[in-house]
Amino acid sequence: MSKYWNERVHNLDPYVPGEQPKDRRYIKLNTNENPYPPAPGVLQAIKDAADDQLRLYPDPNEDELRAALAAHYNIQSDNIFVGNGSDEVLAFSFMTFFSPDRPVMFADITYSFYKVFANLCELQPAIIPLNDNFEIPVEAFCEQSGGAVIPNPNAPTGREIPVQAIRKILEADPDRVVIIDEAYVNFGGETVIPLIKDYPNLLVVHTLSKYSALAGIRVGYAFGDPGLIQGLNRLKNSINSYTIDRLALAGAKAAIEEDDYYSQMAQRVIRTRENTVKSLDEMGFSIIPSRANFIFITHPDYPAEDLFHKLRTRGILVRYFSQSRISDYLRVSIGTDEEMKQFVQTMRELLG
Ligand SMILES: *Cc1c(COP(=O)(O)O)cnc(C)c1O
Repeated sequence: MSKYWNERVHNLDPYVPGEQPKDRRYIKLNTNENPYPPAPGVLQAIKDAADDQLRLYPDPNEDELRAALAAHYNIQSDNIFVGNGSDEVLAFSFMTFFSPDRPVMFADITYSFYKVFANLCELQPAIIPLNDNFEIPVEAFCEQSGGAVIPNPNAPTGREIPVQAIRKILEADPDRVVIIDEAYVNFGGETVIPLIKDYPNLLVVHTLSKYSALAGIRVGYAFGDPGLIQGLNRLKNSINSYTIDRLALAGAKAAIEEDDYYSQMAQRVIRTRENTVKSLDEMGFSIIPSRANFIFITHPDYPAEDLFHKLRTRGILVRYFSQSRISDYLRVSIGTDEEMKQFVQTMRELLG
């Protein structure tokens, strides 16, 4: 608290990021980072970009990167916006497309940053409760008008909704923007990027932080109709025109060319996820079906918060949310086979 804060900052309720502790070595299963390293070509490209050109500003329009993305996704450069992590893309999108006179819809159990952005922009959140199975109630998203933001797969549940459901939500109100946050789509989900040609109110958001193992360089994308992208650029150029530094531009461009590597790593993560699910199921856990690089689990006899603390003491970090409806759950990122073996073994010990 400080008397120098303005009213807006006084009223904020900021996001609390997952811990990145430095006191010891942990098996880190708490922030959905990729357990595998970035592709070798990506690291080389970043090293090569560390030269005397760094005295110059980076390209504020990210032309080369957007051209590579356009070719990769079979869209146009003017369908693409690049941001400093998808959190920035999402923040800019809230500021560009939503206004205080119409609600913005998101689920009660979802990526908690949406509420933070809504609060920052002084919007009216319309909180849509997931059903008892933690599924997105598609009808509820169609009934109300106003903006909508949905991660697909959802976080922290890992559940996916089908493309057909997203079409329905887009068609329910063509006058509002629907943001589909596909941070985890490459771990077994289906992207709706091809739909941007048919729906001028669809914005699809991606990140390099999970699938591309580049949480450390902060790059995210938005894909949409040129009208939406122009709006994002207007906002960006009113805040900071150089959001993506030269090293990040080089790394991001190389990541597109390394898709074979990344899809193999994602296949590994998926296999490890399914093996982990099997082991936990045998131990009596309920596991929400996941299409992401994490699982959301609960045990009828062991309180999640207690397990969270005990795992931490044993050097394993997972994510616990003390929030109603999910306070009996743990979100566990999928690590390497070796890490997950240790996680399962430790769980067995804790359960006796
Ligand atoms: C991790 C995550 C993001 C943020 O990604 P960054 O690009 O690292 O900012 C956005 N949305 C969801 C649902 C996420 O889980």
